[in-house]
Amino acid sequence: MAEHDNEHLGTGTRLVGVGRRAAWTGTADHPGAVVNPPVYRASTHLYPDMAALRAHPANEDGKFYYGRRGAPTQWALAEALTALEPGAEGTVLYPSGVAAIMGALLTVLRPGDVLLMIDNAYEPSRAMGRGLLRDFGIETRWFDPADVDGFAAAICERTKAVLLESPGSLTMEVCDVPALSAAAKARGVTVVLDNTWASPVGFPALKRGADIAIMSLTKHVGGHSDAMMGSASAGPEWCKRLRVRAQGLGNVVSPDDAALMLRGLRTMGLRLAQETASALAVAEWLETRPEIAKVLCPMLPGSPGHAFWARDFSGGCGLLSFVLKGGTSAARDALIDALALFGIGYSWGGFESLATPVDPAPIRTASAWPLPGLDADDRFGVRLSIGLEDAGDLIADLEQALRVWSAAA
Ligand SMILES: *Cc1c(COP(=O)(O)O)cnc(C)c1O
Repeated sequence: MAEHDNEHLGTGTRLVGVGRRAAWTGTADHPGAVVNPPVYRASTHLYPDMAALRAHPANEDGKFYYGRRGAPTQWALAEALTALEPGAEGTVLYPSGVAAIMGALLTVLRPGDVLLMIDNAYEPSRAMGRGLLRDFGIETRWFDPADVDGFAAAICERTKAVLLESPGSLTMEVCDVPALSAAAKARGVTVVLDNTWASPVGFPALKRGADIAIMSLTKHVGGHSDAMMGSASAGPEWCKRLRVRAQGLGNVVSPDDAALMLRGLRTMGLRLAQETASALAVAEWLETRPEIAKVLCPMLPGSPGHAFWARDFSGGCGLLSFVLKGGTSAARDALIDALALFGIGYSWGGFESLATPVDPAPIRTASAWPLPGLDADDRFGVRLSIGLEDAGDLIADLEQALRVWSAAA
């Protein structure tokens, strides 16, 4: 299934071409008749005769079998994501990003195993460690994203997987994925990486050391805040096991949502490039403001782990955070309420800008927050998802909201 012969092409060219098999976008007498695969709404798949049913094909994408295994709409999306991830042999789709993370962890881990989780992980990932995984006899231990030696020392006989997220989607630290992966692999520990922030367009996760690359397609791939889905891409060692476990858990994605994801994917490169440029403009402007203690944006020199971003990434995105200099929680609420061009909501990667409060201190257990160098009073954070509005308008909006904050702080 994998199309590994596209790596010499540019990102835009690959995003336009991936997954568009002529057999899935036409008929036997007119292959490739339409641009996009039709939306196959199908629970039952029919067999022409008993011989065909008896010879039902192997458990893989690309063969009609039964609705839970998908049809060309879902196969085209999975194939497109595989083709975008260098080193991937296959991709499994899940109904959400959370389902993809849990699906991968439940593929790798068994009762009695230990999972090492990076301390900047997205809170629902942390909740898996405290909740479902613990209930099934799997122990989670957290580690400092900046401490590779500490991570290596924390690996024990029972450690079977590590969950990385880089940058962390709240605090934006970039970690040394190649070094952490090398330390994990030297001890036979499987590396699961949540690559939602960069996507394979900005960070080739498997090439940098991950065994399983996860994305919440809800964010950049969908890009329009109207559908949810997740994916896990992996090489030959893991992709079949991921598929079997996902099927055992009954994961399916609708053909309508798969078609929305394919539509979003075609413009993802353009959106990411624009959002990255606007986010950097916003970050550089924020850095000049007296109200701001720290700007957390991987593309910005001085942001935690920026050197790893510069070394390992070829792109960014619109998600960044900043920490206010002192103030109160109520003043931060007033700032967010004063923003006219930013919606208030827990997501990102859509065409529209969003703002949410960020309070990492209570959820971190293995590393310092506020970051070293910040005052203890500098703890009220705001996360921005920069969309496709003009950066100048977003900056003007932030400027008037910071005046409201100053009056309230
Ligand atoms: C949103 C998000 C997820 C979960 O994705 P859903 O599709 O909302 O379930 C996972 N990881 C990160 C970093 C996210 O931001």
